[in-house]
This record gives sequence, structure tokens and C-alpha cells, in this order.
Amino acid sequence: MSQDRTYPRLEPWKVGVKGRCPRCGKGHLFSGFLAMREGCEVCGLDYSYADPADGPAFFVVCFACLPAVLFTVWLEVAFEPSFWVHIFVSLPVILLTCILPLRPLKGWLVASQFYHKAEEGRLVMRGDPRD
Ligand SMILES: [Zn+2]
Repeated sequence: MSQDRTYPRLEPWKVGVKGRCPRCGKGHLFSGFLAMREGCEVCGLDYSYADPADGPAFFVVCFACLPAVLFTVWLEVAFEPSFWVHIFVSLPVILLTCILPLRPLKGWLVASQFYHKAEEGRLVMRGDPRD
């Protein structure tokens, strides 16, 4: 682990979407589909700062799931297809548009947190050494 060297500032969307470390761009962010690693195996960056909370789910619901559901409603209203059309078309469209974007969005949000040094707000008192 080489934490004393300097790293170039990497664009969050370039490394986050790929699930790479926001500091070095080489290590991995995830240990599972959405589970975060504890740190980068290449540069040693501690990922404990990462807290995207419901951010990825919010973006997926707004920009992917809602259009997919609207497509399904339009399909039903316009064509009144058989139940099986929804099983083989609507259900996969909804599942794919809701599940696949979660990981790249979570990676992008975590990398953005690192890039912008976003953290929980705190009161700064006069004489605080962290000020
Ligand atoms: Zn790294």
C-alpha cells in the first residue's frame, strides 16, 4: 500500500461507473453486486467514507423504472396483449432497467463523494483544529 504518493484527480463518472477506486482508478469498489469492499486493494484507500444511501435507488426509480412502468402501461392500454406478453416483455424490461443501473450509479456516487470530499455536515467551533 502506498498512501504517501500523490494521485491524479480522476473524473468520478470514469472510475465510478466502472466500479474502480476513485483515488487510483485501478482497485475495485465492490466485493459483490452492490456490496462495497472495505478499501482499495491497490492504493489502500479506506472506503468507510462512502455512504451513497438511497441515491442509486432514487435515480434508478426516477430515470429507469418509471419509464419502464410507463412503457408497460402504454403496452397494455394500446394493444391489450395477452398476459404472456407482459411476462416475456414487460417483466424483463422492468427488471433490467431497475437492476442493471444500480451498480454503476452507486460507483459513480461513491466516486463523486471522494472527488468532491462530501461528508456529513458538522458545527465548526472557534479554535477547532480541524477548521
Ligand atoms: Zn485505489
